[in-house]
Amino acid sequence: MRNLLLFLSRWNRLRAFMETSRIARPLSSRFIAGLTLADALTVARSVNLQGMAVSLDHLGENVTTLAEAETCRDVYLRALVEINSGDLDANVSLKLTQFGIDLSEDACLANVGHVVRTAAKFRNFVRIDMESSEYTDRTLGMVHSLYAETKSCGAVIQAYLRRSARDLEELNRRGIRVRLCKGAYLEPAAAAAFQDKKEVDENFLALARKLLADGVYPGIATHDERMIAGTLAFVKEHKIDPSRFEFQMLYGVRRDLQKRLVAEGWRVRVYVPFGEAWFPYFMRRLAERPANLVFILRNLLRG
Ligand SMILES: Cc1cc2nc3c(=O)[nH]c(=O)nc-3n(C[C@H](O)[C@H](O)[C@H](O)COP(=O)(O)OP(=O)(O)OC[C@H]3O[C@@H](n4cnc5c(N)ncnc54)[C@H](O)[C@@H]3O)c2cc1C
Repeated sequence: MRNLLLFLSRWNRLRAFMETSRIARPLSSRFIAGLTLADALTVARSVNLQGMAVSLDHLGENVTTLAEAETCRDVYLRALVEINSGDLDANVSLKLTQFGIDLSEDACLANVGHVVRTAAKFRNFVRIDMESSEYTDRTLGMVHSLYAETKSCGAVIQAYLRRSARDLEELNRRGIRVRLCKGAYLEPAAAAAFQDKKEVDENFLALARKLLADGVYPGIATHDERMIAGTLAFVKEHKIDPSRFEFQMLYGVRRDLQKRLVAEGWRVRVYVPFGEAWFPYFMRRLAERPANLVFILRNLLRG
C-alpha cells in the first residue's frame, strides 16, 4: 500500500484533478494549514501559543517553469518578512525542485540564495528539505555553499539512505544544522536504501546519537515513540541540555505526543505546510500510515 500511494503521489493527472476538485480539497485540511500564507501565519501563531516553534513550508515541488519557481521564491520572501514583523517563533523549509533545480541549477541557486540571504538579514533560518535520492548530492552541495556564505541554512538527512552516516559526518564537521528524519520517498534500490524498517530505525538512532554528540542544534524529526525514547535515553545519559536540540513533527500528526513533549520540558517544532499544490505532500502522509486513508474515505462518504 505504501508503494502504491507513493507511486500515485507522482501521477500528474490525478494531482491536477485533486488539487482543483472542490470535493477533494477539504480532505487536505487534515495535514495542511490552508491555501494561503495568511492561513499558515494564523496556524503558526496558534502553535506558538501552545509553546512550540514552527517551520513554514510553501507546498509545491517539481515546478515546470522558472516563472513558477520565482513565484514560489516570492512567497518565501513574504513569509520571512511576516515572521519578522509578527514576531513569530518560526523559520521556513523549502524544496529545491520547487525552486527550479530540474530546469536550471544556476537559477535555482540564485532563487534559494535570495531567500537564504533574506533569512540571514532577519537572523532567521532556512531548512532545505531533502527529496528523493537523485537530488541528494545536488542538495547537499547547495547547502554547503550557501551555509559557507550565510551561516543561515541547514540540511536534512534521511535514515533510510545507506550513505547518510557519511553525509552527516561532513555536515557536522562544517557545523551545519541537520534535521534527521526516516525518509519519505520511494527508494526501491537496495544498494542505496535500507528496505527493512528495522534497519532504518537502527540507523535513525545511530545517526541521532552522532548528531546529539557532535552536531549543532539538531532537529530530531519523528513521530515514532521508540525513536523519541531512544533519543531521550541518550540525552539523559549524556546530560545534554534541552536547549541543545529540538524534536520536530508534522502539522496534524500526533498532536498528543507534541503536547506531552512540551509538558515534559523538551523543545518541539511543528512543520506547517500551506499552499495550493498539496497533493504529493498529502499522499506521502497517507503512505506513512495507510490507516489515514480509511479515516479520509470515511469523512468523504459522510459528505
Ligand atoms: C518535521 C519533519 C520534516 C520532515 N522532512 C522530511 C524531508 O525533508 N525529507 C523526507 O524525505 N522526509 C521528511 N519527513 C518525513 C519523514 O521522513 C517520515 O516519512 C515521517 O516523519 C514518518 O516517519 P516517522 O519517523 O514518524 O516514523 P513512522 O515509523 O513512519 O511512524 C511512527 C508512528 O508515527 C505516527 N505517524 C507517522 N506518520 C504519520 C502520519 N502521516 N499520519 C498519522 N500518524 C503518523 C504513527 O503513529 C506511526 O505508527 C519529515 C518529517 C518531519 C516530522
